[in-house]
Amino acid sequence: MHPHAASAGNNSDIARGFLGAFRFSARALQLVWSTSHALTIALGLLTLIAGLLPAGIAWVGAQIVDAVVAAAQTVRAGDEAPLAPVLWLVALEGGLVAAMAGAQRGIGFCQSLLRAQLGQRVNEMILEKALTLDLAQFEDSEFYDKLTRARREASSRPLSLVNRSFGLAQNLISLVSYALLLVQFSPWAMAVLVLAGLPAFFAETKFSGDAFRLFRWRSPETRMQLYLETVIAREDHAKEVKLFGLGALLLDRYRSIFHRLYDADRALTLRRDSWGLGLGLIGTLALYAAYAWIAVTTVLGRITLGQMTMYLMLFRQGQSAVSAILSSIGGMYEDNLYLSTLYEYLETPVRASGGSAMHGPDPSDGIRFEHVSFTYPGAETPALHDINLHIRPGQSLALVGQNGSGKTTLIKLLTRLYTPDSGRIVLDGRDLDAWDEDTLRRRIGVIFQDFARYQMRVGENIGAGDVDHFEDASRWREASDKGMASAFIDALPAGFDTQLGKWFRDGRELSGGQWQKIALARAFMRSQADILVLDEPTAAMDAEAEANVFEHFRGLSRNRIVILISHRFSTVRMADQIIVIQDGRIIEHGSHAELLARAGHYAHLFALQARGYQ
Ligand code: ADP
Repeated sequence: MHPHAASAGNNSDIARGFLGAFRFSARALQLVWSTSHALTIALGLLTLIAGLLPAGIAWVGAQIVDAVVAAAQTVRAGDEAPLAPVLWLVALEGGLVAAMAGAQRGIGFCQSLLRAQLGQRVNEMILEKALTLDLAQFEDSEFYDKLTRARREASSRPLSLVNRSFGLAQNLISLVSYALLLVQFSPWAMAVLVLAGLPAFFAETKFSGDAFRLFRWRSPETRMQLYLETVIAREDHAKEVKLFGLGALLLDRYRSIFHRLYDADRALTLRRDSWGLGLGLIGTLALYAAYAWIAVTTVLGRITLGQMTMYLMLFRQGQSAVSAILSSIGGMYEDNLYLSTLYEYLETPVRASGGSAMHGPDPSDGIRFEHVSFTYPGAETPALHDINLHIRPGQSLALVGQNGSGKTTLIKLLTRLYTPDSGRIVLDGRDLDAWDEDTLRRRIGVIFQDFARYQMRVGENIGAGDVDHFEDASRWREASDKGMASAFIDALPAGFDTQLGKWFRDGRELSGGQWQKIALARAFMRSQADILVLDEPTAAMDAEAEANVFEHFRGLSRNRIVILISHRFSTVRMADQIIVIQDGRIIEHGSHAELLARAGHYAHLFALQARGYQ
């Protein structure tokens, strides 16, 4: 938890926490200013105007009453009524009131425009940050919580903070102008006004802190609720939810989370509102005491009727300005606490993006793993242990092993999605860490078993394999020919322009095997890549098709490295080297013929599968 957020609600050091809690205000203002200079300036000017006008209106009001009283006396004395000054003053007040309404509308207008721009801006910042994060961070639940919190709340908070800051400024300006008028009555009146609001303010600040802690504390539950919504309401889960009859159970869970959250909410709201009511009464009491005081002073003839009207109005408005200021501050405090989440997320350190090497000293060396070990964050046993292997350009390698033996992990290390805990991976004679990230990514083409199915057009799904040619239709065709996808794509209603997935209009769903062909075509888009990795992307194809694909990959170029993960020995046997992994360790290593001759684990598995085919 953030140190300021942690201490802020604590009564003992409320002042320290209080100041700390406002440290994001300046940044939020800066954010708004950089989003739109014009709107910020307009907002500032309108705020100034709206702040000054109420005192002006009250002052003109007093002049009207006094003018009316004077005119009435003139009439009583038998003279002709001097109507013009009264009417002019009334017209002036009308004008000021209209100007006030205009200023307020203008403020609302600027705020709406800023809201749209700022919301977009903050969401972009959040997403841009997401692009720089490690895979490991996405898989870390605590971090994911931060991301969810930032996305849920903080995108609306900067504007809210700025609105409140401007509202605060407006009310402060009004208050100062009231004070200048009220002081003529009595400086004490001013003091009463401010002091009466203070208890309510401290209560507000404390409860804002509580609300924030509540928000933080239950963020995992909120996340679970969001997840349940997804499972219940999204097409890709609907099939299982229906067939297994999970709906009622999931909904029940969803409901019980709500009730838990609601109970905590209700308790807080109740406390907040009852304190608010009690402390608000103090304010009302102060107002009416002042009312009596002003009335008595008028009766004693020390001030005019006009002045009395003005002071009463100033007092009433002053009090609402004070309470608006206090609740702005309470709200700003709360916004600041929420913003701390946003900045905590935005300031999450990212791993330095490695080196800058574009070439290795020995391109004919290929890939080496030297004593590589890796344990997932939070896991107890290593996913890979002391892995050694060497593949030269032009060679192919097959990885064999049970589910969970560490095959995919090995690929994740090779593609630098994760970094080994010990040992090193070397490409072309250079440590993987020293390579420039982009160069590395360009050289490696991977299809994972859980490849992404983008809800986009067929062509874009293929083009995703090479961002530089994302929209290049001729390259789509070439790649889909190699991925054996052209035949079914041509049969689709709009060919490469067919929308895939069910989320958008006219979307088509493909079979598992067809999706895999799309994924293969995607890998073939990387014509520059000289390391190709197939992590069981062909499981939904028949054995013959898989063997064809592998042959195809191998035949692409003499100098490529192909790494294949498969459970089918008909394909595996074609690889130059085969590695058998068990529990994160290499237990056998050699060519198909060598491994059969060893009569070990591989030979046993091969015999099992061969028997199955007879
Ligand atoms: P394979 O590809 O051979 O089926 P993996 O390499 O995916 O196996 O997984 C190896 C081991 O690492 C398994 O025990 C698995 O539970 C664990 N593992 C895989 N991915 C993660 C992850 N993101 N976080 C923690 N553990 C993981």
